[in-house]
Amino acid sequence: MSETIPATMRAWQVTTPGPVENNPAPLSLVTKPTPAPKMGEILVKVLACGVCHTDLHVTEGDLPVHREHVTPGHEIVGQVVKIGEGAHRFRLGDRIGIPWFRHACGVCRFCRSGKENLCPHSVYTGWDYDGGYAEYTTVPEGFAYRLPDQFDAVTAAPLLCAGIIGYRSYCRANIPAGGTLGLYGFGGSAHLAAQLAIKQGIEVHVFTRGKDAQKFALALGCTSAQGAYDQSPVPLDSSILFAPAGQMVPNALANLAPGGTLALAGIHLSDVPVLNYQQHLFHEKVVTSVESNTRRDGEEFLTLAARLGIKAQVTTYPFEEALTALRRVKQGNLDGACVLTFD
Ligand SMILES: [Zn+2]
Ligand SMILES: [Zn+2]
Repeated sequence: MSETIPATMRAWQVTTPGPVENNPAPLSLVTKPTPAPKMGEILVKVLACGVCHTDLHVTEGDLPVHREHVTPGHEIVGQVVKIGEGAHRFRLGDRIGIPWFRHACGVCRFCRSGKENLCPHSVYTGWDYDGGYAEYTTVPEGFAYRLPDQFDAVTAAPLLCAGIIGYRSYCRANIPAGGTLGLYGFGGSAHLAAQLAIKQGIEVHVFTRGKDAQKFALALGCTSAQGAYDQSPVPLDSSILFAPAGQMVPNALANLAPGGTLALAGIHLSDVPVLNYQQHLFHEKVVTSVESNTRRDGEEFLTLAARLGIKAQVTTYPFEEALTALRRVKQGNLDGACVLTFD
């Protein structure tokens, strides 16, 4: 009943981390053995894989090498084609999602208290283990997601990191009911968080350099859109910084209302300039970072995305053009998210 799994597959792997514009490029397409699912794991045939800014950090070396020649990609929609020993959650043919957060120890004090995202032993898809820029990949079954039927593979893919981590950022930003939210940077994650916020009655203001991104934000129902360093038209209860640009932090703090919270959503951020206490921090302003997500965040977000009709706007690239897609993500100003498709 299972389809034939080829002995080898095509996969992209990071050769030597460096700028994606380099020639030779830091990412190359190779043929390698198809992985076998280990104990408790499942093997999937990849149907679609989102291209996340973190893939760029892994490929360019902003994040240290965790696994040599790693295959990036952690917004994976795949079909279960083989079930490893001891795995029993899914059946052959099921369509599942594989996220960034791949495994945590389950026994440390963070795992035991609902903060598994802070586990010091946590590992990540497409950083510590090979990800979805490949025809096949594996995942521990307990860390995969069932996907709502209403999303096709391509529109489901960005929900798995851009969506889930955007949701955790949204929660960390502590937005009061009916409040005002600022979003700094407007890419894959922000355009999903914006929809979530608007559908829950939050007024959203967007700060981004790209004119097209500003237009896109307004078309999605955001109340205003302006430059990344502009003054906000209204004091903001909460804000999320999605751009990996520390130089945007002072303005984001200055735009907060007293008591407001700024959540820094990225795994990597360039240095934050010197802050002025009166202008940026006083009046009980709160700054927090966001680290990965818990599985509970993932389950909550996917349920909300289905119920609220949150839809990723995607630009697709064939799997063979992963490098072109990464270069495009680096340029920024994409409307929504970028996704690799497979035949
Ligand atoms: Zn742990
Ligand atoms: Zn990601």
